[in-house]
Amino acid sequence: MRGYIERQWALCMDDFSKVISSVGMDLWITPLQPINIEKDRLVVIAPTDMTRTQIYETYLNKMRPALKAHFNVDDIYVLVPDEKDEYIRQFTENHPDEEIELIDPKPATLKNPFNPRYTFDNFVIGTTNQVIYAAARAVAESPAVRFNPLFIYGGVGLGKTHLLHAIGNYIWEHKTTNLNIVYVTCEQFTNAFVEAIRERHEKGMDAFHKRYRQADVLLIDDIQFISNKKSVQEEFFNTFNDLYSAGKQIIISSDRPPKEIATLEERLRSRFASGFMQDIQPPDFETRLLIIQKKIELERFEFEKGVDYELAERLASFNIREIEAILRKIYFLANLRGKTVATREEMEEVLEKEGEPAPVSINKITQDKIIGVVCKHFTIDKRDLVGRKRNKEIVEPRQVCIYLMWSQLAIPLATIGQVFGRDHTTIIHARDKIMELIKTNKQMKKTINDLITELKSAS
Ligand code: ADP
Ligand code: MG
Repeated sequence: MRGYIERQWALCMDDFSKVISSVGMDLWITPLQPINIEKDRLVVIAPTDMTRTQIYETYLNKMRPALKAHFNVDDIYVLVPDEKDEYIRQFTENHPDEEIELIDPKPATLKNPFNPRYTFDNFVIGTTNQVIYAAARAVAESPAVRFNPLFIYGGVGLGKTHLLHAIGNYIWEHKTTNLNIVYVTCEQFTNAFVEAIRERHEKGMDAFHKRYRQADVLLIDDIQFISNKKSVQEEFFNTFNDLYSAGKQIIISSDRPPKEIATLEERLRSRFASGFMQDIQPPDFETRLLIIQKKIELERFEFEKGVDYELAERLASFNIREIEAILRKIYFLANLRGKTVATREEMEEVLEKEGEPAPVSINKITQDKIIGVVCKHFTIDKRDLVGRKRNKEIVEPRQVCIYLMWSQLAIPLATIGQVFGRDHTTIIHARDKIMELIKTNKQMKKTINDLITELKSAS
């Protein structure tokens, strides 16, 4: 019975953690101790009356599906420690041949939370990522000695999350002391904070602080999503300062450098800049080939000779995540056909479907072409577009133009700034404005799509 309860409870905990926040789990659910299964309810002991109230009022509904699945009960009966003896006495009186064995509350066994595939060993090093790889490795080998904070930035699918997990995995596996390593995405950090406030009594905030401010190594992924809410930035700033002044290691990733994150407060920006900052570039041919070969090896795929080489050549404009997806599709298609080795035939079919982009030399999009297409679309004059006028008829097309230059040309914001005689904060503002509009305004989305189609077809 005892082993059974323990096992089933572990399964429940897994399920609970999918529907209950980490703060909620830490505070209220983890301390519960199941002691008995009755006909249609699970009996648990909660450390305090407050926990009991929380379970009944806030969490029970979320817990029910897992209780049903793993214990086949619909309900939970929560006791506090003082009531335990009396409960056991009554139960054994009514059920003389059943015995209740108490499970010692023991700390949940710690499990490596990092993705086992995202290790340094699985990370292919090329000219475009070797510097950041070396810095990440140095940080993993001796946290908080050099490179603090470590700031990694680069486009999507280029390996930022992989490197963060690699650092986490490395420290986890080599740790001799009990280092507390915390990985969190910026979004999770924000949600946990908002939720801690919502919990409305001190405990929520305590648990939040405990989680982040007691980290020895804090890994924050995708900081570009930091909200411009003052309270969140304040909290993040304080967390950062606490850790930093206590000599803890902080590692941050972002899809762009701090100066281009419009919502980031200046003081945070300068904190980030005080450490080591390095970008990851899209892989060059050599790196692509090595990555493709590595993935083939790791996934135990088999490809006809030469296909790896050809893919490395043809997938020049794809990021690594996309390259992985294509490899999988090719292999999957071959498998469907009963082949164990994927051939050129499958490669061609998949590439055709994936819309392998035309070689860059044809229909090259340029700055002038973007300006031309925008002016024509909005029927305005080029001098006005790049000039100083501030009426709405001009401002919006100007912002659209900036957005298109940023998204279609791989040029720095400062260069775009020069075209319009404006500094990069204005450019960031314009870009973000349009990005936001694309999400909320159908008309804007259509305009942008039309303009991009036009750009691609105009020669
Ligand atoms: P990002 O966080 O920058 O968007 P990810 O770290 O999620 O990108 O990487 C996307 C995928 O590409 C992952 O599956 C990752 O393992 C893989 N990847 C990225 N860089 C490398 C690399 N240098 N070697 C091997 N795999 C890589
Ligand atoms: Mg990522």
